[in-house]
Amino acid sequence: MNSAVAKRFDELKATGLLPSPTGVAMEILRLTQCDKSTAGQIAQTIQADPTLAGRTLKYANSSHAGARRPVAAISEAVVRLGMRTVGTLALGFSVLSSSRKGCCSEFDYDRFWSKSLLLGIGSKALCRPTRAAPEEEGFACGLLSQIGRLALASVYPEQYAEVLSSWNHGTEQELARQEQQAFGTDHNELTGAMLADWGLPESFQKAVMLEGDWANTGEDQSREAKLCGVLEVADRLAEVCLAEDDQRDELLRQLIEGYERLRMDPADLAGICGEVIEQWQSWGEILSVSTREVPDFGEMLEGSKRRQEEESQSSPPAESDDRPSESDEAVSFEPKSLDILVAEDDSLQQKLISKLIADAGHRVITASDGREGLRLALETNPDVVITDWMMPEMDGFELCRALRQTKFGRQLYLIIMTSDAEEERLVDAFEAGADDYLVKPLRPRPLQARIRAAIRMIGLQREVEQEREQIRKMTAELAVANRKLEEAAFTDALTSLPNRRFFIQRLKQEWARLTRNGGELSCILLDIDRFKSVNDTYGHDVGDEVLKKVATTLGAEARESDVLCRHGGEEFIVLCPDSDLAGAARGAERLRASVERETSGAFKQFDNSITVSLGVSTYRAGMQDEDQLIKLADDALYRAKQSGRNQVCCDGEQPAEMVSKIQDTLKSLFS
Ligand code: GH3
Ligand code: MG
Ligand code: MG
Ligand code: MG
Repeated sequence: MNSAVAKRFDELKATGLLPSPTGVAMEILRLTQCDKSTAGQIAQTIQADPTLAGRTLKYANSSHAGARRPVAAISEAVVRLGMRTVGTLALGFSVLSSSRKGCCSEFDYDRFWSKSLLLGIGSKALCRPTRAAPEEEGFACGLLSQIGRLALASVYPEQYAEVLSSWNHGTEQELARQEQQAFGTDHNELTGAMLADWGLPESFQKAVMLEGDWANTGEDQSREAKLCGVLEVADRLAEVCLAEDDQRDELLRQLIEGYERLRMDPADLAGICGEVIEQWQSWGEILSVSTREVPDFGEMLEGSKRRQEEESQSSPPAESDDRPSESDEAVSFEPKSLDILVAEDDSLQQKLISKLIADAGHRVITASDGREGLRLALETNPDVVITDWMMPEMDGFELCRALRQTKFGRQLYLIIMTSDAEEERLVDAFEAGADDYLVKPLRPRPLQARIRAAIRMIGLQREVEQEREQIRKMTAELAVANRKLEEAAFTDALTSLPNRRFFIQRLKQEWARLTRNGGELSCILLDIDRFKSVNDTYGHDVGDEVLKKVATTLGAEARESDVLCRHGGEEFIVLCPDSDLAGAARGAERLRASVERETSGAFKQFDNSITVSLGVSTYRAGMQDEDQLIKLADDALYRAKQSGRNQVCCDGEQPAEMVSKIQDTLKSLFS
């Protein structure tokens, strides 16, 4: 973005009037753009907005309809869709909900969102066959690709109404010109700036800023040029859907033309459009965006074609544009020309074959016997080897076998030439590793057919390789996501401490160790005193702050070997391996004192400290199971509450006395 545009954007942003997402969506977007975020964190934030949660789930299920098991959990939806997509979706849905209406009289808000939704779904559908971008990115990019228009209507409702009315549905370029004149910027620049401001991928920004310029991108194969083409065709499709019956023919013609320019087969158009319209209507219901009935696309295309033919019969034929169709190479991995090695001892034959191959536009390397052929093949890595059968030094069979034993040679396309086409020998040739054979004397057409087969084969191989590469990448991403999910499953989101599930797992491990090897194990259960009144008096947010502060204080005070977890609500639990009751009681008292000390004056809403009550228990021979250890700590905690709170109580009488002595000593130390 150039600096003038950036400056203008900052001014507009400062008005506070730009369409903007809700706090929840902004937080999701921020989390999804931060490498350290986990899917669990994102899922939890999404759940803070039930409408958004519902839409995200619905989207996760619709975009992979049928193929797989439905997604029921938000966290799974996050993993399946990818964090970035979820962030962008949240943004789109949220801007939509917050900017459904406005006061620019000439701006048709209803139509705007209806069309934006079509652009999203249409772009997504077109991203699949054109591979311009991942489908989900296509959806988000399409949905937000017009947001600059809404921005102008929001910041300048009156002036933009005037611009729109004087523009009177002229060309897009004319609108942009008038916008520049009136506001010093236009909707495309603004869209780009807003997407940049939200941190969306650069290819999105560039693609939307190219709007209307697709025709000038020429042979540009960059990602943004392709994405720009997808947006443009989605736009034409949207216009067809939103138009009245009698305006559709010209729009359809533009759609078909754009679709072909994307190097797509027009035969697929009706299918794709039908699918887009169906999804538009069902998403329209989910998002409360208005849609309309559109006639069957196949029939519309037929009708329009018929009318055009009738017209052209009554008028002289226009000069036809006879450029060769390039649709074959659209998304094809097939190479245009090959490197072909010819191993042939007969020099006349060698010249003849070389000429035929070179004439067909391929490069030739020649070898005069099998051994040279092998050496050259390994040196130059050709796509295809055509070898004679009978040759000195090393014959064609041996060459095939030798090549097939190398890593490179296994994926090579091998053709063997023979003058006697006896079936038995051909079987030998295939067994030696040949892919195909040619009968001498060679004629151009069979040779060309073989080369075409080789091209197809190589194209397939490359496609498989590419898919494999993608699968490898996805597997790696999934492994990372799974690890993060697992981590999230054992972490308490508010305090970032391990949660109860983690605690139970650790306790079981410690218990098993203890019953096997003997030793000590103690447990401290800790509960914040009168925490409910903090919530009731200062609100839940302050309550959460208190919980976080207590958690960090405990974390700083606990020993390295202690396992501190949030047990639930305002309760924490500490597992102290290798501690006896007295040791754990001392630890508990240190925790108690540190909470009282560190929370004093720590909150701006109140001055007094937060205090905690603690119950301590320890492992004794003959205990039934680990639950009993917690139960005893809980009983002791209950006694601490009963005895006036802000104190430590231990399981059993005797140690309690000991603890009260320790308490006294420590209290005198701190006072
Ligand atoms: P006592 O001294 O007897 O423990 O009194 P208390 O008020 O702390 O105990 P009570 O169990 O009645 O209240 C616990 C409160 O903790 C109730 C619940 O709303 C609140 N709470 C639980 N989890 C959270 C949380 O994650 N955030 C906030 N803000 N409050 C929570
Ligand atoms: Mg020979
Ligand atoms: Mg409690
Ligand atoms: Mg409490």
